[in-house]
Amino acid sequence: MNDVTRPNRPDLAAFWMPFTANRQFKADPRLLVAANGMYYRHEDGRQVLDGTSGLWCVNAGHGRPEIAEAVARQLETLDYAPSFQMGHPLAFDFATELAKLAPVGRDGPLDRIFFTGSGSESVDTALKIALAYHRARGQAQRTRLIGREKGYHGVGFGGISVGGLPNNRKTFLTLPGGDHIRHTLDLERNAFSRGLPAHGAELADDLDRLVALHGDTIAAVIVEPVAGSAGVLPPPVGYLERLRAACDRHGILLIFDEVITGFGRVGDVFASGLLGVTPDLMTTAKGLTNAAFPMGAVFASRPIHDAIVAGPEGLIELFHGYTYSGHPAGCAAGLATLEIYRREGLFTRAAQLSPTWEAAAHALKDKPHVLDIRNFGLMAAVELKPRDGAPGARGYEAMVAALKAGLMVRFTGDTIALSPPLIITEGQIGELFAILGEVLEQIA
Ligand code: PLP
Repeated sequence: MNDVTRPNRPDLAAFWMPFTANRQFKADPRLLVAANGMYYRHEDGRQVLDGTSGLWCVNAGHGRPEIAEAVARQLETLDYAPSFQMGHPLAFDFATELAKLAPVGRDGPLDRIFFTGSGSESVDTALKIALAYHRARGQAQRTRLIGREKGYHGVGFGGISVGGLPNNRKTFLTLPGGDHIRHTLDLERNAFSRGLPAHGAELADDLDRLVALHGDTIAAVIVEPVAGSAGVLPPPVGYLERLRAACDRHGILLIFDEVITGFGRVGDVFASGLLGVTPDLMTTAKGLTNAAFPMGAVFASRPIHDAIVAGPEGLIELFHGYTYSGHPAGCAAGLATLEIYRREGLFTRAAQLSPTWEAAAHALKDKPHVLDIRNFGLMAAVELKPRDGAPGARGYEAMVAALKAGLMVRFTGDTIALSPPLIITEGQIGELFAILGEVLEQIA
């Protein structure tokens, strides 16, 4: 790691921190100053094992020189070029490489790629493509966008409208006409499931209930194949197949939000391939560039792309895009990242590590406060019993105690979420769960 010592702490006032209790943080800040491989360095010089790949995004580990060099070279060669009515070669190269990885469904591969700047932008893009598709086919009445309770699809107005986490919605307006199918978390039947839980496939039929209510006005359903931000909720066995079938029955597009699950997190390039269910549209970001550059990509099936792009010659077909769609440095980062994933076998490494990971996670079962443990690929959650009268306090305290003990974890409410870089070793998996186990013994 580079020498990062600096004589002073930054002034903390001006930066309004996202998804953070600002006053609490600024009273006792947690500052990371460097990172390499599996470890962050805390400002006090301690090494901190990265149990979360940053925010589920640094899949190939930190400080990869190949990515840094590719970005630096690109910025010196062509720092920026617009993608509106202009192009640059790397955006086409990157789309071509991604297309080779695209899930293949009944309608062929999802190999038409729309670049965005983040996961939230990917979600809003996919929702808009779904609306444009139905309109292009003469079904403009299909305008309703359906999400799932407990879903997280970023923070754009589209994303929060289909999102199912109440705190992210209640302060803001959401798009009219939206609705949600039921979530699949079921501690009574599925607590301590290893991998996919056995019960709950029938919850996919909840879409029939919404179709009975809304008729043929539904455009699309969006779900995370494995819900991440709500605390790692793997789909029940057979659930996604049944949701796919329900969408087909009713002429509704299925969107998988693979912003977290994409690029090796679950043991294959995408959860779609691993679980054998192909959506019509797929959103990605995060691991797309190993988080070295903010970027997202939407994968669309050819029928969807072709229906929209078949508009009148010479006219813009989709009035949508971002200044940074296909940013040259992002494409350079992405191409270098894909090369690392391939060379180091990281797309499938989570599948190889999964038995060790699962056993280590479930070994915490008898620790204090533990209500449930869930895992899939290199994702896991330890759900803690909320302290009486103070929901979320135990989760927060566990995160702070873990950091002090040299481990970075995430918490949502009282659920601890884990998703380390895919380069983690078996020894480091042991280290991670040993620290977490001690933390659970410590906290009140
Ligand atoms: N979709 C999912 C499934 C996510 O987990 C996230 C972020 O965690 C997003 C979308 C939003 O991504 P971003 O924060 O890059 O906008």
